[in-house]
Amino acid sequence: MRISVTDRCNERCLYCLPHDVAIEWLPRGQILTYEEILRVARVATELGVTKFRITGGEPLVRKNLPEFIAELNRLPGVTDIGLSTNATLLPALAEPLRRAGVRKVNISLDSLQAERYREISGTGNLRDCLAGIDAAIAAGFPQVKLNAVMIKGKNDDEIFDLIEFAAGKRLPLRFIELMPVSTSEVLSDDNFISIGHVRQVIESKYELVPSAAKHGNGPALYYRANGLPIDLGFIGAMTNLHFCDNCNKVRLTADGKLRPCLGSHMEFDLKSVLRDPTKTDADLRRVFTETIRNKPEQHEFRDNYVPGRKMIAIGG
Ligand code: SAM
Repeated sequence: MRISVTDRCNERCLYCLPHDVAIEWLPRGQILTYEEILRVARVATELGVTKFRITGGEPLVRKNLPEFIAELNRLPGVTDIGLSTNATLLPALAEPLRRAGVRKVNISLDSLQAERYREISGTGNLRDCLAGIDAAIAAGFPQVKLNAVMIKGKNDDEIFDLIEFAAGKRLPLRFIELMPVSTSEVLSDDNFISIGHVRQVIESKYELVPSAAKHGNGPALYYRANGLPIDLGFIGAMTNLHFCDNCNKVRLTADGKLRPCLGSHMEFDLKSVLRDPTKTDADLRRVFTETIRNKPEQHEFRDNYVPGRKMIAIGG
């Protein structure tokens, strides 16, 4: 279960929060409190959910995140807590997050060139991100992975630089295809580069052998690049027709909706149940069951999908 703890972000990645769109953060009262999220998580564990990933927005901009995660970690049945972050705030937070029980950290890194990093992330600073990566390594999380969204003509000339950087840090690196979340404009022929193409480029230099290592619960396909100490992952939501085959994710949005699929507008309202004093945990369980029962077999990204909500509000 992916939990978006906030829709706010300290970056504005052009494929996620396009620069020309005015930001309207959700009013605070619409965002679930930590107590409400913990109640949802407890009900989820009672129904068999064991693994959680904290995301956003940028989850590290929400106050008291380590304290919340420590509480989540105390729930019976929780076996794994991951975090998706742009890492820029990790220098101060990596240690407390590790102590709170975070095991897996996924870090977004789309460019190793300072100016380009700024251009893609809108407001971000490459130096902060790199310091965050080092802080994550130093804090000793059992797993740290790097994620790079590939944008044609923007960062596809950095494929080998990113691989060499990841190899130097001994961190698995995943290449992600653009998806039509937040905005469909980003998915133009000018921007889109298939994960198959990225693989071809890599294979001009490295032999890729399917990897036996299990790096997570997601839909990435992993390969060991001969001669490198790391695995490379490929996430092709648009071109991999088997992308959804093993997906057992469910997403809790920052404003309390349960979504069975990132690539479908379907969502089920938990917040109104949470905030209605006449409703009980049994009512929450019913929303969960209905959500899971309605999980689509396939996402709709390939069917001229028009995004209805920003990625940051859903929880990427
Ligand atoms: N702020 C955190 C981060 O930077 O990882 C967590 C939230 S972010 C929405 C989660 C992931 O979604 C990031 O790896 C980001 O690159 C990815 N993402 C956002 N918009 C995307 C898009 N349009 N296509 C593909 N991946 C996207």
